[in-house]
Parts: sequence; structure tokens; C-alpha cells
Amino acid sequence: MDGLMMNRPLRIADILTYAAQNHGRAEVVSVRCEGDVHRQTYAETERRVAQLAHGLREQGIMPGDRVATLAWNGYRHLELYYAISGIGAVCHTINPRLSAEQMLYILGHAQDRLLFVDLTFVPLIAKLAPQLPDDLRICVMTDRAHMPEAPIFSHHEDPTEAGDPPLCYEELLTGQPDTIDWPEFPEETAAGLCYTSGTTGNPKGALYSHRSTVLHALSISLALPDVLRPGRRIMPVVPLFHVNAWGLPYSAPLAGASLVFPGPALDGESLFDLMDREKVYSAWGVPTVWMGLLARIQEMGRIPEGFGDVVVGGSAAPASMIAAFEDAGVNVCHAWGMTEMSPVGTQGNLPDHMQTLDRDARIEVKSQQGRRLFGVEMKILDEEGHRLPHDGEASGALHVRGNTVVSAYFDNEAASEGAFDAEGWFATGDMARIDPDGFLTITDRAKDMIKSGGEWISSLDLENAIMGHPQVANCAVIAVPHPKWDERPLLVVVPTDPATPPTPGDLLARLNGKFASWQLPDDVVFVEELPLTATGKVSKLHLRRRFADYELP
Ligand code: ADP
Repeated sequence: MDGLMMNRPLRIADILTYAAQNHGRAEVVSVRCEGDVHRQTYAETERRVAQLAHGLREQGIMPGDRVATLAWNGYRHLELYYAISGIGAVCHTINPRLSAEQMLYILGHAQDRLLFVDLTFVPLIAKLAPQLPDDLRICVMTDRAHMPEAPIFSHHEDPTEAGDPPLCYEELLTGQPDTIDWPEFPEETAAGLCYTSGTTGNPKGALYSHRSTVLHALSISLALPDVLRPGRRIMPVVPLFHVNAWGLPYSAPLAGASLVFPGPALDGESLFDLMDREKVYSAWGVPTVWMGLLARIQEMGRIPEGFGDVVVGGSAAPASMIAAFEDAGVNVCHAWGMTEMSPVGTQGNLPDHMQTLDRDARIEVKSQQGRRLFGVEMKILDEEGHRLPHDGEASGALHVRGNTVVSAYFDNEAASEGAFDAEGWFATGDMARIDPDGFLTITDRAKDMIKSGGEWISSLDLENAIMGHPQVANCAVIAVPHPKWDERPLLVVVPTDPATPPTPGDLLARLNGKFASWQLPDDVVFVEELPLTATGKVSKLHLRRRFADYELP
């Protein structure tokens, strides 16, 4: 028997309408590419989004069309998220750190109609212009006064041959009505498109729906009630150009929290100053970003004013980082997720019965990747595909299912085929344990594990132990081919001070007692910096290539 309740489709635009009506004075603060700081409320954002939506329609954007963005975190990018999806089109965020080749691939694959670019990326697009699809229009996200001189986006090899002059963002809005009746469409309608960074092979597109996006915003708000609530000021360092800034463009307005967008400068000093000025309570980003901020905190001898919470994810947060924040009075929420999961899958705040744990026990629990969000189911499988117990001991391939998980890759049958098991669960490619309290521990990415003599070694566990060394700024453990054991671990270290690196013996001594002797790295090399992926994670693929011929002692 069916229930007798109305069935209204979940729509992203309704989040902004709700925020404008209920939290209309909460702010969107943005450091702009133009160099200044801009502020507007959610009520003002709603009006500008309506104008932008009318402007997009005037440019011929139709439901289902893909509209791309290449931009930092700022209010115009947020407006695009809402206006594009609001009219039934698809907001396709592009990661500017992808290689030119990958960028061209995804622009072609997505068949974008219009590309919005921040001023910073104008030279990049000008360079790519001759290879861009002929019918792709470009709009620069600024006002007339800051517009670059045309013609810069010529599709012709000869740059003097003018292409269409680029559109100007603010002019799209000018004169448009600041209200709109958002169209109705099924909640399964596509709203956002984000490609994985494609560290192996071509990037694959995750195509989010209105339904998945609204449900993700609701479930993450439920999981982080101390952060996602009225009066809080949240800084997404995690980019709008990848993985929807972990859903903050939706969850923050829904919860009535203000957003502080950092713009292009993401170094520790710039972030510290902005957080200090804007009294940011919670900051979200990958571990590499927080290393910069922690260094600045150390220099200043204090944390930014009002700072009380940090969400770390995207790659494993080392225990030493968690300790540094917690000791400074900043709560650490260690989260795990994937592009394919909208993206947040778990969050690491402590359940009630763990609130009284002592410092070291808290840090140990928080080094795990947290518990699942509502709507995300997890299972771990052995090599034959049998389910393993959630006993905190057994480690296996992590598979997930839920309303916020992809059911296929966008227009890519080959990639979709291998990604799901017979029961339709998505294979994450991560190896994990799950304990009886529901805490997930990512032991490694399957492709980063080191297989030595048929036994697996977790690179993450070794890195976590080494990162606590005061003379280590960053490190990675990678597999190096070995004639007898197939692969052996190599420790690559960035010393805090290159003039006085720690000794290899000192580093390896930190691992004694915690690891079996066959799990210890065979050698240590010191480098100035580690290569990063387009999402700011250490690129083990590049490191493995670089050290493929390394001769172990
Ligand atoms: P990519 O970095 O390839 O673009 P994603 O951003 O979707 O892809 O990254 C997802 C992957 O990042 C996960 O499968 C996992 O391996 C890793 N990851 C994310 N968060 C964590 C975490 N807290 N700890 C360990 N690994 C993580």
C-alpha cells in the first residue's frame, strides 16, 4: 500500500530559496581574482542567481546542456552552481590543475556549450583556444572594467583572426529580472558533472543528480551539527572545481552557515590572515593545505581567531597533524570520500561514548577515517569476493552503495563495466577495515599497496608513523620493483630543513616495534618536494615512475 503523502521532486534551487528566506543575512565572503574581498548575503545571492539563470537562457542554454566552469572558490562560481542546475542544465566543474591534454579531453567528452573562466585562467584558455571545439563560447567571470582585451580566444592558429569576443559575466546579469520561477523536472535530472583526476587513463565523469545532491547535503548536515548550523563561518579550501567542495555549496546555505571563499591564494600565510579577519570557525581541505597552515600557526604562536574545527580528507590525515590541531584546541574531523560519492562517505567526529577518551586515544580514533553518513552502505570483501566481518581486524576491498554513489560513469561504458560488483555495489579501489563501532580505516589504495613476497604492506601506515618525526615535512612510501620479492618499500622524505635532514637510521627507528622487520622500507631517499596530483595529493604514480629503476641496497 502506498503512503498518501505528496511527492515533490528534490531540487537544488530550493536550497538557495530556503537559505535566502530563513538565513538571508548569512554571508558569502570571497577573495576575488580582482584582488579585493567581496561580500554578499544569501538573499543577495538568490537575486543574482535568478539574473544569471535568465542570462544563461538568453545565451541559449537549454535543459541538459553542459556548462563548464574553470574557477577558484568565490561567489560567482557558487552562483553558477545554482543558476546552471536551476534551469535544468549541468554544471561541469573543471580542475585547472589537469594537464592541457586532459582538459581538452573532458571538454570534448562533456560537449560543453559554454565555458566560464576566472581571470586567472584566461591565459591558459587563450593558449588552448585553437584546440577548443569551435562552438564553445567563453565567458570571463568578471565585470567590464576587468575584461581582458579581445580577441584572445581565437579558435584559429593565427591569433589576429578574431573569434567570438568572450562574454562578460556581470553583463550576463545586467538588466535581468532578479526573481525566477524555477522549472519543475524529475529529481533524477542531472545537475553536476565532475571528472576524476584520471591518475590512470582518461578522466571519468561522475554525473550528480538533483536528488543525490540534496540528499548528500541533508545527510552531511545531520552528521556535522556543530559545524553546519546558523552562525558558523566555514571556509572551503577544498575547491569548487573538484568534488563540489565536499558539498559545502549546498550544505552551508541549507544549514544557515556563512561561506568564506579563499580565492586563488591557498598558502598558509594567506589562509591564516583570511581566517583571522573573517573569524572562520571551520576550515575544510586536504592534508597538504593544512601542512602550510600549521607551519604558519607555529610561526605566529597562535591559531586564527575563532578557529575551532578542521575537516581533513582527500588523503589520509597523519596522526601528527591531528595531534597538532587538537593540541591547539581545534577539533579534527577526518573524512573519507570520492568523486564518485558526491563526495563524502564518512566523517570522523567521535560518538558520544568516546567523548571522554584521553588525548592519545582520541588521536588514535581520529586517525581512522570515521563512520558512514546516512545513506552510505559499506562492505569489505576478500580476494574471492566474500564478505569480511566488521571486526576491526579483517582488511579487504571496500565496496559502497547508496543514493549519493554513482551508478555508472558518464558516457563511458568500458569504465562503468569494471567498477561495480555483481550486486551493483561500487568498488572504491580502497582497501579497508571496519570496526564494530562502524569506524572505517583505509589501509591503502589498492594500487599503492606494496606486495612483497606475496604479502601486502600498507604504505599509509608507514607514512603515518614517519610523519610524526619533527624533521620530516612530508613523506611517501612507494613500491620499487625487486628481483626476489617482486616489490619492496622505499621511503621518500622531504626534510623540514634540507640542510639538516634526519638520518635514515633515525627515521627507521621510529618504525621499530610497530612493524614486522620485513615491512620496513629498504632505503630512504631525500627530495626537495613531492609531486602532487591535480587534487593536491601526493602523486605516487609519478614517484613510482621516477624511482622505477632505483637500486635498493
Ligand atoms: P582523485 O584524487 O583520484 O581525483 P578523489 O578525489 O575522488 O579522486 O579521491 C578519492 C580517493 O582518495 C579515495 O578512494 C581514497 O583512496 C582517497 N582518500 C580520500 N579521503 C581519504 C582519507 N581520509 N584517508 C585516506 N584516503 C583518502
